[in-house]
Amino acid sequence: MRLIALFLLSLAMTTATAQDKPTALVIHGGAGVIERDALSDADEAAIRADLDQALDAGNAILAKGGSALDAVTAAVVVLEESPRFNAGKGAVFNAQGRHELDASIMEGHTRRAGAIASVRTVRNPIRLARKVMEQSPHVMLIEDGAEAFADGFKDIERVENGWFDTDNRREQLEQAQAREKAEADAGTPAEDLRGKYFGTVGAVALDAQGHIAVATSTGGMTNKKWGRVGDSPIIGAGTYADANCGVSGTGWGEYFIRASVAHDICARVAYKGDTLQQAADEVVMKVVPELGGDGGVIALDKDGNIAMPFNTSGMYRGWVKKDGSRGTAVFRDEQ
Ligand code: ASP
Repeated sequence: MRLIALFLLSLAMTTATAQDKPTALVIHGGAGVIERDALSDADEAAIRADLDQALDAGNAILAKGGSALDAVTAAVVVLEESPRFNAGKGAVFNAQGRHELDASIMEGHTRRAGAIASVRTVRNPIRLARKVMEQSPHVMLIEDGAEAFADGFKDIERVENGWFDTDNRREQLEQAQAREKAEADAGTPAEDLRGKYFGTVGAVALDAQGHIAVATSTGGMTNKKWGRVGDSPIIGAGTYADANCGVSGTGWGEYFIRASVAHDICARVAYKGDTLQQAADEVVMKVVPELGGDGGVIALDKDGNIAMPFNTSGMYRGWVKKDGSRGTAVFRDEQ
């Protein structure tokens, strides 16, 4: 009898503690050259609506006491399904006029991680990255191997590569290739790529158990060649989580890899005692630009603090916390 009473008491205490815990979700839809004049009101409204839908999808899971892992998966699937972001439907074209998709996911308190690179037929790459984490002994699978792994799962939906096409992205490829040709003909150095051909989606969540998870998904860079893979599927570069901190990046992947951006931010919090904001600002506003790169991150810590620094003109972003604060933002001068 006494044992049962003790059990019920501890259950009640766990539930009460879980209810008091600050849940939070932060998402991004890519950083880059995002100027007010160049974005129509209709496009901006549609982008904000997609961000809101992703926040709703992830937050519904957190509000029910669900896991951060489920929340980031749900939020990223919404953004992959939207043609307005460079992930899943609407992914950029590579130099061959095809799509090669990269994604990764990580759970902080266990440090389990899964990633896939250069997949061509997986409708929601983040779901496959999660399968790698949960149902394989590996962390990263690429190209044909990742496609073969996907064959083993009925719930991993497959599509023709052309399903990811959008007119907008094709125009961007044509512009990039015309510029590249003009440069080659003129013999001038390659164009500065800063912020031009990017976009990626990501989510970081803190659940009522105090666990953090991160997910990132991308089509990479427009006109990419030779099987190029950026930071998004690389654990420690575009995605990282530990027990206290989670980061998802977006930007010029080569620099994010070289600076181990996501891991560096969490390491500064862990070893140096920086606040999340200090650590994220230092890496995004100093370390990456000093190397010559650009982009931004979303970051979250175990207390529910959020940081969203970026050094480009804009970054699509959104956040929702248990205390009711919620918002979406696009440009630099927004909160
Ligand atoms: N980081 C991605 C990549 O380099 C692109 C992006 O975030 O926009 O593949």
